[in-house]
Amino acid sequence: MTETKRQIPILYLVVPCYNEEEVVEKTAAVMGEKLTRLEQEKKIAKGSKIMFVNDGSKDGTLRLLHEIAAKDKRISVVSLAGNYGHQSAILAGMMTAREHADAVVTIDADLQQDIEALDLFLSSYMEGCEVVYGVRNDRHSDGIFKKLTATAYYKLMHMLGSTVMTNHADYRLMSKKALDALSEYQETNLFLRGLIPTMGFISDVVYFDVKAREAGHSKYTLSKMFTLAMDGITSMSVRPLRLIGGLGVFMFLFSMVMCVISLVDWVRGNNVPGYTTTLIVSLIIGGITLLSLGIIGEYIGKIYMETKHRPRYIIDTLVWRKEDENAGEER
Ligand code: UDP
Ligand code: MG
Repeated sequence: MTETKRQIPILYLVVPCYNEEEVVEKTAAVMGEKLTRLEQEKKIAKGSKIMFVNDGSKDGTLRLLHEIAAKDKRISVVSLAGNYGHQSAILAGMMTAREHADAVVTIDADLQQDIEALDLFLSSYMEGCEVVYGVRNDRHSDGIFKKLTATAYYKLMHMLGSTVMTNHADYRLMSKKALDALSEYQETNLFLRGLIPTMGFISDVVYFDVKAREAGHSKYTLSKMFTLAMDGITSMSVRPLRLIGGLGVFMFLFSMVMCVISLVDWVRGNNVPGYTTTLIVSLIIGGITLLSLGIIGEYIGKIYMETKHRPRYIIDTLVWRKEDENAGEER
């Protein structure tokens, strides 16, 4: 642990928003109030901000955000050119914020994650942690479907070799140093929850309660959840490819045994017409082959996207205002 005492940080809250018009005003108010309190308690420095990232919303989110930002200088709005997804939106916010902030906390726009946990995040930061992970206490506020899919998801992820942290969903503090390190990772298939733990750094875990969504509905459709799950596995681990290899070895041994058995039968002259066996064997082999091709294809698709080196997000507009000329002087 570093012995040098840290300075009170300029904190940026990075808040991704996709069609969140029902909730952004409330969110801005609650978060703004929290920032004021933290500043009064000398836990964060002047110049701390809330940075909303509009992830190509199709509703009135962007207009509302601009209205809010016009009233409060502490609010900054990064607007992406389209809908790049939660992970890219967070990355865009963090990469923009790191130019001004000492520490960044990413938090959802729906106020589900307990904002009071910020004090704990900050005290871990002051003790020298570069990354602090928010981990949810339980899942009583989720529906049965979300609960089941989430549990199955983490089980599968660990089985397939992903480094993801159970029940940690991007409510996380990162110091400027950690963000600078993250900026060196150029991968297109971004899975922050798995990637960040592999970076190292002194880190800590903070537990928080999850509430019901403040307003609106979940923006994670089933297909978005599925994509995230696939990304989580294929961008973090090649274990599925190894499993295919293992399966191949098994099928090879199995076919050798079958060859010997049928040859012996043939020599003995008692090879009965085996329609069912033939059918089953060819169906199994066909199924496994197609599944394997699919998995390999998934990785090739990933390689294909990586080789293009496309930008992971494009910022359309940015609203950011200097608080005042003395910003940060009290640090
Ligand atoms: N989000 C985003 N882009 C998307 C989908 C979601 O920026 O394509 C944001 C969304 O506005 C919210 C956060 O990601 O702030 C988490 O989404 P949501 O609350 O809908 O997910 P859940 O909590 O149901 O997993
Ligand atoms: Mg949510």
